[in-house]
Amino acid sequence: MRAIQITESGGPDVLTPTELADPTPGPGELLVEVAAAGVNFIDTYQREGIYPMTLPCVPGMEGAGRVRAVGEGVTAYAAGDRVAWCEQLGSYAELVAVPAAKAVPVPDAVADETAVGALLQGMTAHFLVTDTYPVREGDDVLVHAAAGGVGLLLTQLATARGARVIATVSTAEKGDLARGAGAADVVDYTEVEDLAAAVRDLTGGTGVAVAYDSVGRTTFDASLASLRTRGMLVLFGAASGPVPPVDPQRLNQAGSTYLTRPKLFDHVASPEELTARAAAVYGAVADGTLDVRIGHRYPLAEARTAHEDLQSRRTTGKLLLLP
Ligand code: NDP
Repeated sequence: MRAIQITESGGPDVLTPTELADPTPGPGELLVEVAAAGVNFIDTYQREGIYPMTLPCVPGMEGAGRVRAVGEGVTAYAAGDRVAWCEQLGSYAELVAVPAAKAVPVPDAVADETAVGALLQGMTAHFLVTDTYPVREGDDVLVHAAAGGVGLLLTQLATARGARVIATVSTAEKGDLARGAGAADVVDYTEVEDLAAAVRDLTGGTGVAVAYDSVGRTTFDASLASLRTRGMLVLFGAASGPVPPVDPQRLNQAGSTYLTRPKLFDHVASPEELTARAAAVYGAVADGTLDVRIGHRYPLAEARTAHEDLQSRRTTGKLLLLP
């Protein structure tokens, strides 16, 4: 099969197209023909060695496709079934072996590309608005990088729960996309001098109930300063780099605020929770609540370009690799 391999950590140039032996499904596993693999920021952290990896490896955690064969003991799936997954390394390939417990069924109403676009990023947006901070009608909510893969979905889900979303973006085109996803206000955080002051102005001086911050280093201080008394800063990514250590006293000074640093994999920890969360997200796609924007499609061999584009802020919505 054709696949992308990395033999050493580094920049996008370590993503090398190669030929590898077809995987065989072990006990409890599915062998899947990958229709589309998802490109996520976590793939770049793994490639760079920020999240240590055993090398060589085939990167990519996410995809959707059709089951070709099942391993011993698999009863929930059969050859021909459509499945998606988001926690299986090896997805930048034509074929991947996925544990059945990590796969979810894809409803007929959801196309393969949408199934990928909605899964890792959609379930992330879902747990952020339902579990981390349950967004309520009338909440003022700050969403950074709102035209990105997670950002567009988060903006839609928060808006659907009755929040007023203040979105940050770096270009006018991205601002239009954020508005299209439901954002009431858009701030270009590369141009505004005092981001927290701008957010406070938009909330009549009160501040936001929750700031969803996936940008990290460059936005953290402004996110904290944008919160209302007892508001919550949800730091869930580091697109601009990791945040330096924080003195807890700063949470007190900001008004008895809360800080959390959640991750998806703790919110799909059991097969039951994974299946239920994926079904909720795919249900929202099927009934039109959630529109999944595929921003960019690349041939599998161009994984390097996909990573370069994602890390240079050139992309919007979801990025896919097509084997
Ligand atoms: P995006 O499509 O959102 O791309 C990242 C965006 O971040 C860019 O488009 C850019 O938007 C913004 N950004 C701001 N500063 C920088 C910078 N210095 N370099 C690069 N980008 C920058 O990516 P994803 O949707 O895949 O992921 C978004 C974030 O969510 C990532 O931080 C990721 O790690 C996190 N995440 C966390 C999960 C979790 O479980 N905790 C799960 C999934 C994703 P703009 O140009 O508008 O500034």
